[in-house]
Amino acid sequence: MPEKVIIIGSGPAGLTAALYAGRGDLDPLVFEGSQAGGQLMITTDVENFPGFPDGIMGPELMDRLRKQAERFAPRIHTVDVTKVDFSDRPFRVWVDADEYETESVIIATGASASWLGIPGETKLRGRGVSACATCDGFFFRDKELVVIGGGDSAMEEALFLTKFASKVTVIHRRDEFRASAIMARRVLEHEKIDVLWNTTVDEVLGEDGVTGVRIRNVVSGEVTDMHTDGYFVAIGHKPNTGIFEGHLALDDAGYIKLQGDGSTATSVEGVYAAGDVADHIYRQAITAAGTGCQAAIDAERWLADQT
Ligand code: NAP
Repeated sequence: MPEKVIIIGSGPAGLTAALYAGRGDLDPLVFEGSQAGGQLMITTDVENFPGFPDGIMGPELMDRLRKQAERFAPRIHTVDVTKVDFSDRPFRVWVDADEYETESVIIATGASASWLGIPGETKLRGRGVSACATCDGFFFRDKELVVIGGGDSAMEEALFLTKFASKVTVIHRRDEFRASAIMARRVLEHEKIDVLWNTTVDEVLGEDGVTGVRIRNVVSGEVTDMHTDGYFVAIGHKPNTGIFEGHLALDDAGYIKLQGDGSTATSVEGVYAAGDVADHIYRQAITAAGTGCQAAIDAERWLADQT
């Protein structure tokens, strides 16, 4: 017998979908991915998830969401889906050599950090190059660090890193931040944080560890080398849709295209998408959770119509 629904992903979208699908008696099979929990696992304080007046740490919020989902959807497997085939029903989903059949699918694979793609960035990853202050900030006590980006992620990373670093320099390619006013103000007013405006990074310098960055002023064109002990990138994210290419309609940036009718339906009937994998506009934990709920309800109603 095919599964009624397979849920791929375990951020706020995937786990909320699991919770609703479980309570809707669909007995969902959840493939949470080998790095479960999504982006909140590498976030510090979450101050904007309703219901937590004092804020909550990202990993704790995910732990609570998972426990709540598990009450109704106990089949949560910590593995990555490696291949899909949506050309016929039942749909097929693979985890390496293991094949699963399912009537419907909810995709909630989220998005991952983007990199600048400059020389030195890959070579020095894990040796002073990072996209996760929460994971790696601890290693930079009393060091000088740079953070690349001008959005809320860059502000959050820079503020978090001040707990450890002696100085943090935010390097931004324009002359104003994209971040929300409150986050930008906290950064601009912080005594340990400097901002380099109109500046891009050409190269991360160092052999066995980061020793500096080669920076370019985009107004004057001047190129200089600047000392730093660590390089943190926070320039946004890319949707995790590699395995769905050719199986579903994606937009130019790789996000799953929804049908535009306000539902979570994708280009394949019976396949739904929730959270950041289909959202380049809101990208919040609460909106991801909301669309996870929608996807489970959409799948449940569609399955009911099939019988
Ligand atoms: P974002 O808002 O898209 O900002 C990305 C930043 O990186 C922008 O300032 C952008 O510059 C810069 N950037 C992008 N590509 C670049 C490149 N190749 N070279 C140099 N700079 C580059 O992404 P985000 O900060 O990750 O935030 C994503 C969403 O999550 C937002 O909606 C945000 O509000 C939300 N978020 C909220 C919180 C919170 O409330 N606590 C925390 C984190 C994220 P430009 O400005 O010039 O485009």
